[in-house]
Amino acid sequence: MESLARINGKTELVGLLATPIGHSLSPAMHNLAFDKLGLNCAYLAFEVGNESLEDAVKGMRALNVKGFNVSMPNKMKILPHLDELADSAKFSGAVNTVVNVDGKFVGHSTDGMGYTRNLKEHGIDIKGKKMTLIGSGGAATPIAIQSALEGLAEISIFARDDAFFPQAEENVRIINEDMKHLNVKANVYPLENLEQLRAEIETSDILANGTGVGMKPLEGLSVIQDESMLRSDLIVTDVVYIPRKSKLMEQAEAAGATAINGLGMMLWQGALAFELWTGQQMPVDYIKEQIF
Ligand code: NAD
Repeated sequence: MESLARINGKTELVGLLATPIGHSLSPAMHNLAFDKLGLNCAYLAFEVGNESLEDAVKGMRALNVKGFNVSMPNKMKILPHLDELADSAKFSGAVNTVVNVDGKFVGHSTDGMGYTRNLKEHGIDIKGKKMTLIGSGGAATPIAIQSALEGLAEISIFARDDAFFPQAEENVRIINEDMKHLNVKANVYPLENLEQLRAEIETSDILANGTGVGMKPLEGLSVIQDESMLRSDLIVTDVVYIPRKSKLMEQAEAAGATAINGLGMMLWQGALAFELWTGQQMPVDYIKEQIF
C-alpha cells in the first residue's frame, strides 16, 4: 500500500529489461528499499528479449528513466546501445546496470562488484590474493574482471571443454593484455586437467565456483570431485544461492574452509546498482530480513 501511495507525478522510473523475469527478486528488493528510504522512485520489470532490446532502450531514453538493470539474454547485446561504459563493463563485455547521467546512458557491471563487496563483508580483501576460478560465463567473467580491477595478484581460470572455453581464453587474454597495467597474472586450463586443478588450488587463497553446478538441474553436484583438494585455510565461494548450501559449500565446510554462497553477491549487485542510481546506500540488512 505504501508504495502505491507514494507514486505521483514526480515518481522516477527504474526498470529491468530481461526475459524471463517473472522469478526476479529485483523489483521487490528495490521497491522495498525505495519505500524504506522514502525515495520517489518505482522499479518495474519489463519482459524484453534481444529482438525488442533496441526499441526498449530507445523507449527508456524517451521516458528519461533514472536507470535500469539488464539481465539475460541482454547483458552483452546492450553494449552498442549505450553511450559510455565503466571499466567493470568494458573489460567484462557485459552490462547489468545502466545509469542515466544527464541523458547519457552509462553501463556498469555490478555482478563482479557484488562478489568482491560480499567478500569484504566477510572480512576478506581481494588485494594480493590468488584465485582459482571455475567457469567463464555470465557470472564467472565479471568475478574475474572485477577481482583483477581490485588488485588480485593471480588468477587461474578452469573451464570445461565446451562452448565457454574460448571465453575463458579471452578473459585471460583481456586480463594479461588489455588490463596489463594492473599486473595481474592470469592462466587458463581445461577443467578436465585435475592435476593442474589440484596444484592451482594448493597455491590459491580463494577457490570460486562461477558455474551453475550445484543448482538445478545440477543440484547435488560439485565442480570438485576430490575433497582432498580443499583445506581449512582456503576460502571457497559459490555463485549458487539456491540451495543456500550447495554440494560445494558442504564440501568446504567439511574441510573446515570458509564457505561463502552466492546470496551475498546477489544482494550486493543489487545494492551497488541502487547506489549508482540514487547515490544512497541500500538498507541491505532490512532487505535481507524482508526478502531472503
Ligand atoms: P552461463 O551459461 O553464462 O555460464 C555457465 C558456465 O558454467 C560456463 O562457464 C560453463 O562452461 C559452465 N558449466 C556449465 N555446466 C557445467 C558442468 N557440468 N561442469 C563444469 N562447468 C559447467 O551461466 P551464468 O549466467 O554464468 O550462471 C551460472 C550460475 O551462476 C547460475 O547458477 C546462476 O544462477 C548463477 N548466478 C549467480 C549470481 C549471483 O549473484 N550469485 C549472478 C549471476 C549468476
